[in-house]
Amino acid sequence: MLDRSTIWPYRDGEPGEFYYQRYGHPTGAEAERRLGELDGGHALLFASGAGATTALALAFLSPGDTIALAEGAYFGTGTTFRELERWGLTLVEFDQTGPPPDGADLIWLEAPSNPFLTMPDLEAAAAHAAPVVVDATAATPVQLRPLEHGADFVLHSATKYLAGHDDALLGVVVSRREADAERLKEFRTRTGIVAAPDPCYLLLRGLKTLEVRVHRQTQSATELARRLGEHDAVTNVRYPGFGGLLSFDVAGADEARHVETSLRLITNATSLGGVDSVLEARARWEAERVPPGLLRLSVGLEPVQDLWEDLAHALGTLRDR
Ligand code: PLP
Repeated sequence: MLDRSTIWPYRDGEPGEFYYQRYGHPTGAEAERRLGELDGGHALLFASGAGATTALALAFLSPGDTIALAEGAYFGTGTTFRELERWGLTLVEFDQTGPPPDGADLIWLEAPSNPFLTMPDLEAAAAHAAPVVVDATAATPVQLRPLEHGADFVLHSATKYLAGHDDALLGVVVSRREADAERLKEFRTRTGIVAAPDPCYLLLRGLKTLEVRVHRQTQSATELARRLGEHDAVTNVRYPGFGGLLSFDVAGADEARHVETSLRLITNATSLGGVDSVLEARARWEAERVPPGLLRLSVGLEPVQDLWEDLAHALGTLRDR
């Protein structure tokens, strides 16, 4: 399944399906076939989720166009779009639980948003004239298939749940229309924002366990969200009722740092969607956009009781300080 070739010989003087890796390769094509099935559309892989975001914006928008981005969506997505403002794009943010603003040329939703865990109003977005992108990284196609709700594109940081083991950096865009996928593929080939075979191989392996991982992570996250909600040191819990991602607040930045450094099982690291649980205070990256005591927890596959004991121990140390 893993073919690292960058070239394949012509047959009788003619290029076959694969001839130069930037245009496509067998491992990536197989992964795209699987991803297309999962989301019910035409999938294309990119070098990262951020690469997929950039490609979508640049392939379908022109200078003077406006992107309406869900408020509280992944911090890096807004940063990427602000980078593109130099090329004539305008970014506006809106509350995705309601209708998108008039005048937008592309609507960008996140299901659920990271780290605020709000869900978009998919129906209101589909009623808007502009194409709709749903970043469903945290939902995964196991729990949401946005193309069935009127979205034009689904995007995933495949680095997260799809690959699932914190060892492959990839992004994917699944298009509803074949013509859009063709346009995007042309753009990808020209700009070279391509996925290498090795991470695609790891993605294929990860996809085999996606469904069981997501169900187990949902079960554990549901239980942890409930227990966190009853804890004295926790002032707020955000959990949409499915998936392995949640966030909760402690009193402030000092308390958040204390929890981070008191954990023994859960890794204090960034990212999400892997088999190992990770937690971090998001203010280190997002500054005042998030409450200073906001901790984001990505629940892995460890026994839920062990995870709870680790969290309870770390939160308990706040009392003894
Ligand atoms: N979208 C979401 C919701 C994310 O959480 C991330 C990364 O954290 C990205 C996109 C960007 O993906 P990548 O890190 O693979 O470039």
